[in-house]
Amino acid sequence: MTQQDPRTTDLATSRPIRQRPEPKEIDRKARFKVPAQLPAKQAPAERIHNWDEVTFLFDPEIAKIEATRCIQCPAAPCQRACPVHNDIPGSFWLLEQGDFAAAADVFRETSALPEMCGRLCPQERLCEGHCVVGKNGPPVAIGKLETFVTEWQRKHASVDVTPVASASGFSVAVVGTGPAGIGCAERLARAGHRVVMYEAWPRPGGLLLYGIPNFKLNKPAVARKFDDLSHLGVEMVTGTRIGEALSLDELANEFDAVFLAFGAPESAHLGIPNEEAPGVHEATEFLVRANLPREALPEQMREPLPELRQVVVIGGGDTSMDCVRSAIRLGAETVTLIYRRTETEMQGRVEERKHAREEGVQFEFLTMPVAVLTDESGAVSGLRCRRMQLGEPDESGRARPEPIEGSDFDLPANAIVVAIGYNADPSWGDSAPEVRRDRWGRVVVDPESMRSSQRGVFAGGDNVNGADLVVTALADGQKAAAAIELYLADPERSW
Ligand SMILES: Cc1cc2nc3c(=O)[nH]c(=O)nc-3n(C[C@H](O)[C@H](O)[C@H](O)COP(=O)(O)OP(=O)(O)OC[C@H]3O[C@@H](n4cnc5c(N)ncnc54)[C@H](O)[C@@H]3O)c2cc1C
Repeated sequence: MTQQDPRTTDLATSRPIRQRPEPKEIDRKARFKVPAQLPAKQAPAERIHNWDEVTFLFDPEIAKIEATRCIQCPAAPCQRACPVHNDIPGSFWLLEQGDFAAAADVFRETSALPEMCGRLCPQERLCEGHCVVGKNGPPVAIGKLETFVTEWQRKHASVDVTPVASASGFSVAVVGTGPAGIGCAERLARAGHRVVMYEAWPRPGGLLLYGIPNFKLNKPAVARKFDDLSHLGVEMVTGTRIGEALSLDELANEFDAVFLAFGAPESAHLGIPNEEAPGVHEATEFLVRANLPREALPEQMREPLPELRQVVVIGGGDTSMDCVRSAIRLGAETVTLIYRRTETEMQGRVEERKHAREEGVQFEFLTMPVAVLTDESGAVSGLRCRRMQLGEPDESGRARPEPIEGSDFDLPANAIVVAIGYNADPSWGDSAPEVRRDRWGRVVVDPESMRSSQRGVFAGGDNVNGADLVVTALADGQKAAAAIELYLADPERSW
């Protein structure tokens, strides 16, 4: 047997170690000339009849070409702009040489959810928005390459799910099984701690399962993540709401530390007449009834959605886009999105708006809901709207929408979906008086250590930041895991 050279071969995995080139060895001019590549998509006429993901995975050879568009900048602004700081150039160097599994492992070093982030991150604001190649043309397709390598690894190789340390004897409870909870649980389990995750819904996954529709993220990808966690020894307790079934104090007594990752599940309300009429839906309720099998839903949500004819969705973020596109797939005759500002101020991903337009969604910008209209039975028959114009910037820095008097008009609708944002669960604080919350009900933490005001209780994700992103919640969870490790080693330490 030939002896392996540790300078060129990883002795643990027998995989070649491919040294990154020196910056001067990279022919940037040649790389700038490589035409941008993208994976194929389902045609709109086809995809509106199914719930499968819109974008296919990259072909391996095309992915390698796209990876060579990365100019390997030493400053890596893409990496700095990524909330979990993935080593994107490092991964793409391995990818372009065809070592897909090693390229995937580079993402896994810094991210517990690379398959999800590749599909769901608003890359145009994060990594791709800072890509130097993108200054003079399309940026490197970072998200789609991330999804490709990590899915390739799942199918053709394996993901390492062994703890790196022996059992520590410490135990941690994680409340909530969304991205923040997953990021924290995985890190702690790898480090040898006993982790028990608690989840109010019947199945784990948070908004990855109970919110984000299949055409953006297929559900087997979520299930595989929980298989990983199970292999790492993470215990899962579903259908259990902390604060009702068990109190935070009970958890704090039983475990050495607690991580709160219960998200921001409370739908914001419009505050307009007839908002409670039958036919008006909250976004999450609409999406989960549209997307998930009955057995994954609690009893009270198992009834199928009524027939949709004219649907109006209110809102301007990712959630509203998921609702309009779900309504199209449910066979609605017309689907209209109303938003009170212009498209420029919309928060959600540009690509999702493009998909929605291709699928036949109508957009009414500078439009505000005024009242839900009902028929003689009390059911929804339309939405009265008012035109708006943009004024001076408000406290968010975005132009303030102002109503135009006398501009009211009616849109016919037999279903209205409200997707105007989410807030923290207001009931939570009652059962956890020692955990300080701000006036919006969000848990207040020290941003360095993610510690709450209750000793041994940490928090992160949407329950701290308000409704945000998968990757920011994940980053919080991973950061909190590191802080919890320090706390377990020295509960008296000061940060
Ligand atoms: C429809 C929709 C589409 C979105 N699309 C995108 C997107 O494309 N890209 C993107 O980056 N972000 C998107 N987001 C935002 C993203 O999903 C969230 O920011 C992210 O999931 C927050 O993670 P989290 O772990 O903090 O909370 P969550 O994912 O909300 O998970 C919290 C979990 O805690 C559970 N829980 C709550 N209270 C309790 C309790 N008392 N006891 C036990 N369990 C409890 C909840 O049931 C839930 O499962 C979307 C959000 C929505 C609603």
